Amino acid sequence: MGRFRLACWTGLLLAAPLTAQPLLSPEAFLGYPLGTRFTPHHRVVAYFEYVARTSPRVQLVQYGETYEGRPLLLAIISSPENLARIEALRTDNLRRAGRLPGTPSPDGPVFVWLSYNVHGNEAVSTEAALLTLYTLAHPDSQRTGAWLEQAVVLLDPCLNPDGRERYVQWYHRMLGARPNPDPLAREHHEPWPGGRTNHYYFDLNRDWAWGTQQETRARLAIYQQWMPQIHVDFHEQSVDEPYYFAPAARPIHPLITDWQRALQDSIGRNHARYFDADGRLYFTREVFDLFYPGYGDTWPTFNGAIGMTYEQGGGGRAGLAIQTGEGDTLTLAQRIRNHYTTGLSTIEAAVRHRRTLLTQFARYFARAQTQPAGRYQAFLIRNSTYPDRLAALTALLEQQGIRYGTLTRARTVEGIDYSTGTRRRIEARPGDLVVSAYQPAGVLAQVLFDPTPVLPDSLTYDITSWALPYAFGLEAYALTERLEPDQEGWQRPALSPPSSRPYAYLVRWGGLDAARFLAEVLQRGVRVRMAEEPLRLNGQRFEAGTLILTRADNEHLGARFDPIVRRAARRWHQPLYSTSTGFVEEGPDLGSSRVRFLRKPHVYLLAGPPTSAYATGAIWHFFDQVLHYPVTLIERDELNELLLEAGDVLILPHGVYRSSEWPIEALLEGVRRGARLIALEGALNLLTGQQGVHLKQRQAKGDQQERTGPRRYGDREREAISDRVPGAIYRVQLDPTHPLAFGLPRYFTLKRSTRAYELLKDGWNVAWLDEGRPRSGFAGYRTFDRLRETLVVGTQRLGRGTLVFFVDDPLFRGFWHAGQVLFANAVFFGE
Ligand SMILES: [Zn+2]
Repeated sequence: MGRFRLACWTGLLLAAPLTAQPLLSPEAFLGYPLGTRFTPHHRVVAYFEYVARTSPRVQLVQYGETYEGRPLLLAIISSPENLARIEALRTDNLRRAGRLPGTPSPDGPVFVWLSYNVHGNEAVSTEAALLTLYTLAHPDSQRTGAWLEQAVVLLDPCLNPDGRERYVQWYHRMLGARPNPDPLAREHHEPWPGGRTNHYYFDLNRDWAWGTQQETRARLAIYQQWMPQIHVDFHEQSVDEPYYFAPAARPIHPLITDWQRALQDSIGRNHARYFDADGRLYFTREVFDLFYPGYGDTWPTFNGAIGMTYEQGGGGRAGLAIQTGEGDTLTLAQRIRNHYTTGLSTIEAAVRHRRTLLTQFARYFARAQTQPAGRYQAFLIRNSTYPDRLAALTALLEQQGIRYGTLTRARTVEGIDYSTGTRRRIEARPGDLVVSAYQPAGVLAQVLFDPTPVLPDSLTYDITSWALPYAFGLEAYALTERLEPDQEGWQRPALSPPSSRPYAYLVRWGGLDAARFLAEVLQRGVRVRMAEEPLRLNGQRFEAGTLILTRADNEHLGARFDPIVRRAARRWHQPLYSTSTGFVEEGPDLGSSRVRFLRKPHVYLLAGPPTSAYATGAIWHFFDQVLHYPVTLIERDELNELLLEAGDVLILPHGVYRSSEWPIEALLEGVRRGARLIALEGALNLLTGQQGVHLKQRQAKGDQQERTGPRRYGDREREAISDRVPGAIYRVQLDPTHPLAFGLPRYFTLKRSTRAYELLKDGWNVAWLDEGRPRSGFAGYRTFDRLRETLVVGTQRLGRGTLVFFVDDPLFRGFWHAGQVLFANAVFFGE
């Protein structure tokens, strides 16, 4: 970390206006110099509103709000002349991106988007945004004024206000009369869950491609109304790291073009000029790769922009001042200075390369529509008898700006079968969904659908595969020949009104909407049964898992029964099949004991240390925002007082548990009384070895013996990954007769560790790996043997209750749709 030089705010802060000016600086407005405390979000909002009112260079829009109700803001900064015709400039740029029809003008301003503080506890970014806004907006600043004649800057001061506020409020409560730079001081050690993530502990910088969070969805919508040529995501890394800026590290996704890489390089060189002149340390081309599409640099890159991450040293540990490993003191003011420098330098470079940017950007989208760059020409998704999954997939495509349509006539095409990875001729049928690669968002579509992304270099720190057909558990094909849909869009089958007073209603199981329907009717007091075997009724087949709501079971509801069921079915788009008889042609009659009565579960979720906040948050979010079913979050100290009984479900998320510190015996006693315990990933450690628990960890073999010759120091990183699974997709074998597998014709698991358990000898193996190689993504070769024939999901009886084991997290980052169905099965059918 370079030494702090007060005199050097670089040449970029021009003629800093110190005399009385019409525009107040952040210091004058807030009442303290930037860098002497963290600015609370409502004051950031106040300053942005003030600048928008005062400066003719700034307009402000609120594009959404957070889960905790804080506004999400975008400042539109340009010359007054440009702002006067901003709508025309915006729509012209959308023509350039192929989002609107017509020919764009060859000239115009370049659009530069600056995103600050997506990770809440990397709290310097928003402070830098205040200063950047001021410099851009100040009418006396001629240099920025000249830039703004050729640029529209879209500045989001805080992508994650809830997380940032969690950090800032905590930090100021810890702070004494002055900052304590001692790294051991408590102000440098955030408590669980930390401020990095949003309200539900989701990492918003992993969510761009999935839009599972409210903040992301709002941002994706407004981003696609502008489509900038440059997007910068401001971050912080650990305290001792020098500043990082583009060009990015490998692996770089093969669909990233040469001109995008070249411009990253030019922008990086512009920053380097300022850092060199000032003697500040920095690095490029290391650590921060461009592969996984959920980041704030990759996702814009796959949308034709120059997407970049900038990283200052500091983050949630640094506070206002902290001692570095080299013995210097890193202050908030220094951290602001660096992000301020690169923010302005980005705009400067964008203006310098404006013509190239606009030309290449327009060419990128023109090419996408006529000569797609990837290996596939189209993606074919088989129409499902169960529409929930297709409805969820098309909703995601729409949010991502990817066009799709359906076929009205049959034909034969050639492609790769996602299930097997093999090439073959495929019969495309009417009703099948088609995503053509020939479209403006063709590159993003290729990235999200590619069955086997080519990883040019395996040293990445994130998952290496994510293809949507695996996530949604759909039958699909990546086509090597062109196929265009016969008609735009996809229609969910229309609902026909059920007959007036049926003997029973039936609802097919297989998607999240069916699970939401069940969640709603259970909460309204409806008694529901579930067919454990397939049945045929009035000539129609119903698969195992079908929900059955009989009038006889629901006499307690009287006349309310039908409206409750019908309202829920309409709300969640569930076709209600009504029958006037319980006598079936095949399978168990509706009144049979093999048509199981579903108990309304009372769900507890362990939260707080030592659980992983990500894992806990994903489950919390699932119940709150996806399923809309109540969940009680309970912390470790209260666990001692929890007396589990039949009907209770306790979920233990991933975490680092030490069994000696846990009341595990009392919890297992609760299970013996009839409760259900669902344990995921690291929580399985608590259960192995306990009395009556059949789960056994697979012992790792001595890998050392496989190595020949002495180890080379230079190979150490590469060698370490041969034992790792950073995130890959495996095809699993399912027991389709087990209720936990109902509604899932196929399943792929996203594995992110080499944690391996033997198949259960006592109990039920619901899902397991046959072979140890992934269907898609990277896994080190030494993991193949270790993972072969290991458990993915299992369950066993314990006394009158049940244990459910999840070796992988089915709710990881909230985007694995089929995993959410599987988890819903464990919640509702797991007894
Ligand atoms: Zn970050």
